Amino acid sequence: MSDKILFVDDEALMLQGVERLLHKRFRINCAMSGEEGLAEIERNGPYCVVISDMKMPKMDGVQFLKRVKQQEPETIRILLTGHADLASAIEAVNQGSVFRFLTKPCPPEELCEAINWAAKEYSRVHHEKRILNESYDRQIREAELTQNLVALRAAIVADEFEMYYQPLVNAEGRFSSFEALMRWNSPSRGRIGPSEFVPLAEASGLIAELGHLALNKVCVQAAQWLRVGLPFGRLAVNISPLQLEEATFPDTLDATMKQEGVDGNCLCAEITESACLGCETVVAQRLKQLAQRNILIALDDFGVGHSSLGRLQEINCDVVKIDRAFVMRLEEGSAGYHVVAAIISMAHSLGISVVAEGVETAEQCRLLREAGIDKMQGYYFSMPLKVSEAEAYLRLSRSP
Ligand code: C2E
Ligand code: CA
Ligand code: CA
Repeated sequence: MSDKILFVDDEALMLQGVERLLHKRFRINCAMSGEEGLAEIERNGPYCVVISDMKMPKMDGVQFLKRVKQQEPETIRILLTGHADLASAIEAVNQGSVFRFLTKPCPPEELCEAINWAAKEYSRVHHEKRILNESYDRQIREAELTQNLVALRAAIVADEFEMYYQPLVNAEGRFSSFEALMRWNSPSRGRIGPSEFVPLAEASGLIAELGHLALNKVCVQAAQWLRVGLPFGRLAVNISPLQLEEATFPDTLDATMKQEGVDGNCLCAEITESACLGCETVVAQRLKQLAQRNILIALDDFGVGHSSLGRLQEINCDVVKIDRAFVMRLEEGSAGYHVVAAIISMAHSLGISVVAEGVETAEQCRLLREAGIDKMQGYYFSMPLKVSEAEAYLRLSRSP
């Protein structure tokens, strides 16, 4: 792009000479008048360098280059003049519509040197502009982030969050338990999924508060369903690694459970496998504390990242949740199928039960069953449900 040149002159002989001389070194196009030049830029532009003769019958070179400047301000514009037009050429340079002028007859080396200079100038200006744009984009991104953070903080204070509950079913397709999934009901932006705000909460340190809010809602819900006698199995809560590592986590957990009168038998903590890679001793201690409270521990998103079947033995968990990415790749007799079957049999030999996430089709369900899956979760069975829908689901699943 930086060597695209347009040469405009009404003398055919001049154009032929220029073309012969320059076509090997530059991508050069020619036009015989200002009007033709403008049409060419419109059609094939932008050009990085435009060189124009001064004296042309209708639109002269100065007028033409002024128009080029309006149309493509970044183009480097050079005027070719006779000795008699020097005053006008200098005037055009001073007015800013021309960068440089050359006088006729112009030796080929001088023309080449001018074009080279112009091409370099063009890339320099272009590069600077791009850098300026990038830094402008960054400023906008930063401003957006600050704005989102302010909104998230306010949303926590105003409690604009709601838990949805997605059923997990056993191999026969019967209800087993729920996973609680958070939604942000923003008055200005509508319902927002956790993938949009959990990372921001984690990056800004708001996750402890947000996680506490979720845990609290789930305990309130469990207490409510216990009161009315709806058998919800367990409620699984997602715990961010950062939340888990907080020194106050065990006390906050105890206080919340005590306040709502729920015990660990009602709960399951979903912790991503990657969390168990980081701060290992703290995490191991937390897992022990959860187990002491009879809270089940599920290893979430198993299989993504640096997982290994070998590590399953080291992590003290009750459940493994095979990530959706594996379920998507399930096909009869495929490598994907054998990987899933191997995870299931390895987990079973360690006394760990296995849940498959993101089950969307009858075929996936059939293959998972064949591989010995314990539980399944996904749109094939049910979307995440709001409380009233989850209650209706529970009542329905209870009836024979
Ligand atoms: P996750 O724990 O892996 O949750 C499963 C996600 O998969 C949910 O997305 C769920 O709606 C979605 N899903 C369920 N079945 C299907 C299916 O068949 N197909 C597809 N394509 N997706 C399915 P969601 O609700 O957007 O949650 C995303 C992630 O946000 C969760 O992933 C979890 O890591 C995090 N999250 C959700 N709630 C909380 C929370 O209260 N606290 C924390 N710390 N993280 C949460
Ligand atoms: Ca989860
Ligand atoms: Ca998951």
